[in-house]
Amino acid sequence: MVATLFGRKSTNVSWYSRVSSYQLTAQSRRSRHALVAIWVALWGCLVVAQTPARPTAAAELKRVAVENEKRLNDCSAYPDQTTSSYVLPWKSNASHRIWRTSDHFRRGNGGVGLYAIDIEMPTGTEVVTSREGVVIAVRDNFYDGNGKEPQENYILIQHDDGTIARYLRLTHRGVLVKVGHQVAQGQVIGLSGNTGETGGPHLHFDVQQCGPNLPPNDNALPCGQTLPVTFRNTRPHACGLVPSQVYRAEKDPALQRRAP
Ligand SMILES: [Zn+2]
Repeated sequence: MVATLFGRKSTNVSWYSRVSSYQLTAQSRRSRHALVAIWVALWGCLVVAQTPARPTAAAELKRVAVENEKRLNDCSAYPDQTTSSYVLPWKSNASHRIWRTSDHFRRGNGGVGLYAIDIEMPTGTEVVTSREGVVIAVRDNFYDGNGKEPQENYILIQHDDGTIARYLRLTHRGVLVKVGHQVAQGQVIGLSGNTGETGGPHLHFDVQQCGPNLPPNDNALPCGQTLPVTFRNTRPHACGLVPSQVYRAEKDPALQRRAP
């Protein structure tokens, strides 16, 4: 009996000590895990503290808008007119009045349209290539006077430096070129119109730094940022074309050389 008891006791002690030993091992394992977790958390905090916070999309948009706002009256942004790669986007000897330019600036869209130009133009006026390039996108199925955004017709032309000229608001069936066409400077490419949310017949012209940025993301930053442009075949405009002023497209010697 005693032996049995001792035996049981002995057995119990052995079982208890195994369990205790296991618990101790488990406890120390947990402690080790806790220490590792604390170390990882501290290291993480250190790394996060040393890494500059990435700006959110909204913060970035705000920053770009502020930068663009500073450029609103900065004439130094405009390239020298005499060596400009651009001519006015209408035919020689014709004159048109500028409607809006920097009024396209909106803080809400980061000022992406800061350098866009609206040119008063009766529907059906011939639009010419301001700078040679390749046609990369066209659309002319919308009807004039629809008043809906982004239901506008357009031609997008990519230049050899990757920038993209946009000719917007064209009339219904007013695209005279096809995607992939190489177009020469001064070539008639389309007919102006009054499509999209316009406020009247006009040609919207701008140059974006890359793309194509197609609707509904046609004004997305950073690629859609418009660039300051001057035109070599008209009177001086060191700070860009001026709203309410009329500009005549003079015959450009370079264009005449290319004429057949
Ligand atoms: Zn416009």
